[in-house]
Amino acid sequence: MQPEVDVVVIGAGIVGAATALALVRAGSTVAVLDRSQANTQGSGTTAGNLHIQSIHTRRPGQGTPMDVKKLLPLQNATSILWDGLAENVPQLGLNRCGGFMVAETEAQVASLHEKHEWETAAGIPTEISTGSEARQALPLLGQDVLAATWCAWDGFAEPDLATPALLRQAILEGAIFYPDTPVTALDRRTDGWIVTSFDRTWNAHSVIDAAGPWMADVAALAGVHLDLRPTSLQMHTLEAAPGTLDVLVQHVGEGMSVKQDRRGRIVLGGGWPAGPFHPTGKAPLNTDSTTGSRAQVSRILPSLGHATLLDAWTGPVVTTPDEMPVIGELDSARGLFVAGGTYSFTFAPLWADVLTALVLGKNPAVDVDAYSPARLVATPTL
Ligand SMILES: Cc1cc2nc3c(=O)[nH]c(=O)nc-3n(C[C@H](O)[C@H](O)[C@H](O)COP(=O)(O)OP(=O)(O)OC[C@H]3O[C@@H](n4cnc5c(N)ncnc54)[C@H](O)[C@@H]3O)c2cc1C
Repeated sequence: MQPEVDVVVIGAGIVGAATALALVRAGSTVAVLDRSQANTQGSGTTAGNLHIQSIHTRRPGQGTPMDVKKLLPLQNATSILWDGLAENVPQLGLNRCGGFMVAETEAQVASLHEKHEWETAAGIPTEISTGSEARQALPLLGQDVLAATWCAWDGFAEPDLATPALLRQAILEGAIFYPDTPVTALDRRTDGWIVTSFDRTWNAHSVIDAAGPWMADVAALAGVHLDLRPTSLQMHTLEAAPGTLDVLVQHVGEGMSVKQDRRGRIVLGGGWPAGPFHPTGKAPLNTDSTTGSRAQVSRILPSLGHATLLDAWTGPVVTTPDEMPVIGELDSARGLFVAGGTYSFTFAPLWADVLTALVLGKNPAVDVDAYSPARLVATPTL
């Protein structure tokens, strides 16, 4: 007898876990299938920052800049949803420590002022300070910092805690998780989909493709070819005394993120490129990124410049040609929904909320039409 569920969620990263939780809370029966264990890909290797003030427009080496102004209403919405999850999901590892975004040139100072106006319009509270005011608040900041914006809503969630906590809660509330279950086929039936993993099948009214870097591979099982570009990013950690840094520090002109995690490690993110994406998700390290990331920290937080490098790792993420998120139902495969793109850690609670509304045939609380997968559907070359 084939299990019959309302929704099959493919992928147990943070998007799949958060969506499973939102769906069971809305009354749906849910099966979550992952080809390996939960939290082993992008969501477990991420920096885990909650980008609530405007995101920098380019990771190091990124070609097309993001339209960061457009995303701010979504950042406000997801910030509120993270607060809600913190109240009812134990051990989420959330730290809303607040964050500075710094500028080093007059042009970057102008960018800070511009984005502060956008943030105000989007209901996100930020404050502008001069370099010396910012150094008073955070003496670790170097003399090159000319100005900064502060956002008390910024923060991070510990990547080894957040996704497992969401998935555990979803299971507690009724979802069923199938690890080591790669989806190998997606076939339409009259009122939904048959989801296959080798010799097992699930009948579902709706399917959520939350396979992150493998989202296009999963969509292809349903005959839809999405123009998505998996890539690999690199992270580093530095040794530091506990209590060295109690806020998140970012840069308005460059990909950069620096914070201290619960283990005391200084965690350096910012989207530095790793070696080429590999289908397993495990890319080689890129030594130029280690040099670049460390040089950046030496400029912005000079006292951390000579800290011992503890660790470096890589992780996979899916990007779109326009660098903006993708979320919605596939026009040519009704009942199959996708959600992802860079910064899906920040947006996971919002994607979960939107997907749940879409699956239930309701209007999402935020307008996501601009991020429809329709813009990414490619015609296969024969
Ligand atoms: C190094 C790094 C730093 C980052 N920093 C940040 C940050 O600071 N803030 C931020 O917001 N975002 C950040 N991101 C991006 C963010 O982490 C990702 O966008 C997010 O974690 C993606 O989550 P996901 O659930 O979509 O995908 P993933 O976590 O990658 O999960 C996808 C899952 O799908 C499963 N899967 C794949 N194919 C199949 C199949 N056929 N059948 C079943 N299961 C399948 C995989 O096994 C995997 O578990 C970063 C990413 C990286 C790599």
